[in-house]
Amino acid sequence: MRQNLKQVFIIGAGVSGCISARILAEAGFQVVILERRDHIAGNAYDYYQDNVLLHKYGPHLFHTNNEEVITFLQWFSEFFPYEHRVRGEILGKLVPIPFNFQSIDILFGSEQAAVLKSKLQEAYGLDAQIPIGRLLQSEDPVICELADFVNRYVFMGYTTKQWGISPDQVDRSVMERVPVRTSYDDRYFKDRFQMMPAEGYTAMFRRMLDHENIAIRLGCDAREFLKIEGNQLFFDGARMDGFVIYTGSMDELFEWRFGRLPYRSLRFVHEKHLKEKVLPVVQVNFPNRYSYTRISEFKLLQREKTENTILTYEYPIPCRDGDIPYYPIENQDNRKLYNQYAELAGKIPGLYCIGRLAEYRYYNMDQVIEKAMGLSKKIIEEEYTWETN
Ligand SMILES: Cc1cc2nc3c(=O)[nH]c(=O)nc-3n(C[C@H](O)[C@H](O)[C@H](O)COP(=O)(O)OP(=O)(O)OC[C@H]3O[C@@H](n4cnc5c(N)ncnc54)[C@H](O)[C@@H]3O)c2cc1C
Repeated sequence: MRQNLKQVFIIGAGVSGCISARILAEAGFQVVILERRDHIAGNAYDYYQDNVLLHKYGPHLFHTNNEEVITFLQWFSEFFPYEHRVRGEILGKLVPIPFNFQSIDILFGSEQAAVLKSKLQEAYGLDAQIPIGRLLQSEDPVICELADFVNRYVFMGYTTKQWGISPDQVDRSVMERVPVRTSYDDRYFKDRFQMMPAEGYTAMFRRMLDHENIAIRLGCDAREFLKIEGNQLFFDGARMDGFVIYTGSMDELFEWRFGRLPYRSLRFVHEKHLKEKVLPVVQVNFPNRYSYTRISEFKLLQREKTENTILTYEYPIPCRDGDIPYYPIENQDNRKLYNQYAELAGKIPGLYCIGRLAEYRYYNMDQVIEKAMGLSKKIIEEEYTWETN
């Protein structure tokens, strides 16, 4: 292993921070992680309550098509196969989400269902995923009617609650996430690898950070130490010689000088039930009733054998001062605002911004892991080239 390479400060012990830390530490960098919260693992953090492993910041299901990502994670945890299935309450019935042939069978009479399924199959082929936006553009009146139904009862209510805005203000990439499937496949994801860390995410990331070159400071807001003056980074008053990997919000890094980047926040309510199980699957969505969007029963995910269970209700809320920024609200105006911050960050040598917050992107964990792997490799290559020149 190489010694005496530069120091790296990583702001945030979330998914991107943990992955970068381990790869750089293995290459001999001295890594210091500053994390504002009192725990590691960012939004993937999980913990035990009443013998049930709860996901503190909402259900985190691991899925990827990238074998390199899963191979890396398997160094730090065993995984068990898990395919996520979601039901949505539509007109008083629980149907598979994404909306599929079974959803059609449950909600329509058998003759109408047969017509709808054969029309969909004819138009898009079997086992296709058609985003609701595309379905709505169909010229076939039968498909159009179904698209209107799905839009009204599955997409609209959920999206309006989730984002607190009308669906026409939501970015296309979000609409792409709500497909209709031309098959009976009721898995929520179609990725090649779908699995969960056997002892949870926190245990996995704890092992990842267990390295002699990694120091972690929890409960530590980097803004107290990290300052930007002109294009220079200062840490604790001294000019930075090494690198900073920043995984927090970009507007905050530059003290909101161009304005606030809008986010959506969430409130979670956990409710203990003295029953072995309540829901038919881990997650049930409520697009049309209540102010929460979904209920999760994490016990079913981890298959814990307990006499009690816990239901977690998820309420979307506006992101105000002090709230956790969960979802970037992706649209053209917000991207423009983000780009102003990114341009400033790009001029600062040694500053790298990655992750869901720092890139203001609705990334899944595997995407963030790919990013962190790519960035760490780039830093290692640059440092080696610099040293040998
Ligand atoms: C409700 C919800 C459900 C999700 N479900 C899934 C799922 O099922 N599958 C999936 O693949 N992905 C899911 N995701 C996405 C997943 O959470 C993200 O991809 C991942 O957590 C991003 O990691 P990150 O490191 O970029 O950010 P985070 O996990 O947000 O980590 C950033 C860290 O930086 C810290 N920080 C920020 N600013 C500072 C500062 N100034 N000083 C110190 N520390 C700071 C924060 O406290 C935080 O811990 C979900 C996200 C949400 C919100």
